Amino acid sequence: MRATRLYAPTLRETPAEAEVKSHQLMLRAGMIRKAAGGLYTYMPLAWRSLKKIMQIIREEMDAAGGQEIAMPIVQPSEIWKETGRWSVYGDEMFRVADRHGREFCLGPTHEEMVTTLIRDEVRSYKQLPLMLYQIQNKYRDEIRPRFGLMRGREFIMKDLYSFDKDEEGMNESYKIMYDAYTRIFSRMGLEFRPVEADNGAIGGGHSHEFTVLAEAGESNIAYCTKCDYAASDEKAELTVIKAPEEEQRALEKVSTPEAHTIELVAKCLNLPLDRTIKAVAFQDDKEELILAFVRGDHDVNDVKVVNLFDESIELHMATDEAIEEAGGVPGFMSPIGLKEGTRVVVDATVMEMYNACAGANEKDMHYINVNPKRDFKDVIVADIRMIKEGDACPHCGAPVKMTRGIEAGQVFTLGTKYSQSLHATFLDENGKEKPLVMGCYGIGVSRTMAAAIEQNNDENGIIWPRAIAPFEVVVVPINGKNEEQLKIAEEIYNDLKAKGVDALLDDRKDRAGVKFKDADLIGYPLRITVGPKSVDEDSVELKVRRNGEMVNTTRAEAAAKAVEMLKAL
Ligand code: ATP
Ligand code: MG
Repeated sequence: MRATRLYAPTLRETPAEAEVKSHQLMLRAGMIRKAAGGLYTYMPLAWRSLKKIMQIIREEMDAAGGQEIAMPIVQPSEIWKETGRWSVYGDEMFRVADRHGREFCLGPTHEEMVTTLIRDEVRSYKQLPLMLYQIQNKYRDEIRPRFGLMRGREFIMKDLYSFDKDEEGMNESYKIMYDAYTRIFSRMGLEFRPVEADNGAIGGGHSHEFTVLAEAGESNIAYCTKCDYAASDEKAELTVIKAPEEEQRALEKVSTPEAHTIELVAKCLNLPLDRTIKAVAFQDDKEELILAFVRGDHDVNDVKVVNLFDESIELHMATDEAIEEAGGVPGFMSPIGLKEGTRVVVDATVMEMYNACAGANEKDMHYINVNPKRDFKDVIVADIRMIKEGDACPHCGAPVKMTRGIEAGQVFTLGTKYSQSLHATFLDENGKEKPLVMGCYGIGVSRTMAAAIEQNNDENGIIWPRAIAPFEVVVVPINGKNEEQLKIAEEIYNDLKAKGVDALLDDRKDRAGVKFKDADLIGYPLRITVGPKSVDEDSVELKVRRNGEMVNTTRAEAAAKAVEMLKAL
């Protein structure tokens, strides 16, 4: 490809509407243009990269036993009504009607579609396992489409569905997909973690999110520095920390004037935070109070609190009135002396403290020498704390680190949720009718491209991992008007193509500075520069975008050298 023919209008200024790097850089590099909120055109550079991502995914899905199909994007409402999701899905679903007034949606996902596709024709265990997948646009009318391709309303997804005869088979399919996903993200050259995820409403089974590590990510993840454990902060389980045993002293009330935060209390009594107990007061959607207690240096994980009661409740901070009604004093709360029947949850680590400090449910007063096992009555004890850097890994005990990540893919076991509601059954070895046991596996293709850019960029632009770069090499003659330089550049470009390298020849007549800036902005992994020295001394320069490393070689050797250097990129 020649740059004079490439449609990639680059921008010098950072567009104001773009908040995150990937969005800014894709706009500036002429990769995408916005049509409306959350709707984008992929221009040639973006589409080249997306095609490479899709190719890697296809190869791995096929190798894992998947068969590619293409289902309609427009889906009849009837199948969604069968599973009850027509009403559950809510405003996120794009709904359309045909000329006869029949209702359809633009597919946000395809469980209903694929299950009804096979339910009449998969009848025997002999046809199982079966894995079907597709790569196509998905539609979700997100409340807040944002960050460019990261959260679009139309986006490209690979979705695979597995059908097995029993749970064992489903778990086997899950493992195969998990491994295929690991290969996919490794081959793309991305730093990622499979993170244990909450599969909330789907219930029961396993789920992992494949998370690309990047600062702009929406997920907080904890990962072990020693083993391969990683989990979203909301999901991460924690082991109980046992304080060294002490002789239990008598409970004592002390004055702590104006000390209404745990930090002030600790300061006032000259105690380390890990000898204090702090409270967080919530109310649920029925305005009923839940008081949660954790160690002073810990935080409450409200998802864990919700899961203790009912997964469908939503919590908000309690009002002072609600706290007072339960016998508590805002800023000075403890489980001691509350009205009977108040819902109190205490973190398991708190129960292992000795002679700690907690509120006295009296203004400006705290208790010292609180011994929770002795002093707390009628409390629910559970792991309700939020993981933080340095906590012990629940698998091996080594300290965890925290990072942010972008969910690029997710794998789920579904069990029989959809096959039951859609009556998709088969006959097992004994002629017994059973529901198919399913799994589903998604990769956000367009989000993955954005995530790759979030992870790989610097102040000059994108730094593509070679496997998914729109072009692997750009050949730049310094002076595009110089016939000799152009000729050498063209020669090298042809050599590269003959060796199967995806190369771009920047044959534009622009100044070298402009071409170099564009090369850095678009982020080709390798740049080959042809200048006066190439003409006079047969010397061309190869420059690695990621680390600026430069190598000089002859024009005849240039393509071979590029192939060698690309291996590491
Ligand atoms: P999120 O929690 O980010 O909304 P999700 O869990 O609802 O995503 P899934 O249903 O698991 O998403 O979809 C599979 C994949 O599709 C996700 O892992 C993500 O990469 C991608 N994806 C989901 N929603 C969007 C979107 N609005 N824009 C771009 N990609 C998306
Ligand atoms: Mg998901």
